[in-house]
Amino acid sequence: MSDLEIEQKIIDDCVRCGLCLASCPTYVIKGIETSSPRGRIALLNSVNKGGLKLLDKGVVDQMYECLDCRACEAVCPSGVEYGKLVEAARSQIETAREPEYGPVKRLVRLVTLKGLFAHKNLFYTFGTLMVAYQRSGLQWAVRKSGLLKLLRLSQMEAMLPPVDWPFIKNGKERWQAAGTERYKVNLFTGCIMSTAFADVDRATGRVLSRNGVTVETPGGQWCCGALHIHSGDEEGAKKLARQNIAAFEESGAEFTIVNAAGCGAALKEYSHLLHHDPEWAERAQKFSNKVRDVTEYLGQVGLTETPGSLPLEVTYQEPCHLAHAQRISSQPRRLLQSIPGLKLKEMEEPALCCGSAGVYNIINPPMANALLDRKLDNAVATDAQVICTANPGCHIQLQAGLERRKEPMKVKHIVQLLDEAYNKLPKINRI
Ligand code: SF4
Ligand code: SF4
Repeated sequence: MSDLEIEQKIIDDCVRCGLCLASCPTYVIKGIETSSPRGRIALLNSVNKGGLKLLDKGVVDQMYECLDCRACEAVCPSGVEYGKLVEAARSQIETAREPEYGPVKRLVRLVTLKGLFAHKNLFYTFGTLMVAYQRSGLQWAVRKSGLLKLLRLSQMEAMLPPVDWPFIKNGKERWQAAGTERYKVNLFTGCIMSTAFADVDRATGRVLSRNGVTVETPGGQWCCGALHIHSGDEEGAKKLARQNIAAFEESGAEFTIVNAAGCGAALKEYSHLLHHDPEWAERAQKFSNKVRDVTEYLGQVGLTETPGSLPLEVTYQEPCHLAHAQRISSQPRRLLQSIPGLKLKEMEEPALCCGSAGVYNIINPPMANALLDRKLDNAVATDAQVICTANPGCHIQLQAGLERRKEPMKVKHIVQLLDEAYNKLPKINRI
């Protein structure tokens, strides 16, 4: 049973002005009304009024052609909360379709949503196997053998990022504030971030510590559930939300810091996900109120010291769930501009989705690749050495695209650049 409703009130907020169309990646690529936010809202209006059925092919196709990037929401003058509509529609679609899933779909959802992303130990075991695969030479041999092509797995395998090691140990890793402690926060370390991007989590700890913030990593936390929400697995998302809320509740830290845009948006919306749950609604609201993206937080508390010089040309790719879902756009740029020697070169359409969108690049490769090509054309045109972003999905998608094109550009998270810049300065001793 889905608690998320396709709220008629949200649909009625749409005045059909069309101002969102030019921001919508699927409309930009296809140029047809049904592939636009206004078109999708009209479909859901018809579903609510009985003209169409939610499981009609045209409706289902549009709910999944949408990237849930929420660019439409960010520009809508009427404040239409489009994300809530598409997420509720997907949740209801999957609830209705679940009994009829074929064996392959059932197995994929069992292994991913209900397996790896629901259970930390399973995910860490899988991550360890990936480290062995990548570092033993097996990956090289498999790629050379042509087996991946035969199994049509080349594109999916190419998306595997080089996995960091060792993984983050929640509850055990902490970064004491350097110099005088100004604040104490918790870090949400994530599933993909704490494994494949453990170095970004550690860079986040080091940068915050350098700025007088002590960082702890509460044990018991795990995946934010964003993939579950975007795939219509509402129950899976709620289970993870409750687990994370409980894990962070005992801490007296003022804020929970997150460095992955998609996770940050999901954590800030636990209050909506659990709003019908009498036991958890208030706890979820309290939890969500404390969540801050690391760039938002550093913008709020300020840097205690100017980073060291980093002579690099960098272009910034805005993750959708940072720019549109959380409306954080100026803070990342200000942080980049605070690094002496670093030159920020703006690309065209910096906030247009790169096509990653959770698992979208796996389930809808033509649209995902069209968006990735457009993004890379814009990035490469700047002649920058680095594409900077702040979300693991974008990071993986951009890096895979650059490798496919044999472009020498690198992809880095903002905190990695800040960390590199601070590493140029002498260490600070704790006071
Ligand atoms: S969603 Fe907003 S911007 Fe788009 S047509 Fe409706 S009112 Fe206009
Ligand atoms: S969420 Fe993104 S892809 Fe979906 S309708 Fe809005 S702008 Fe278009």
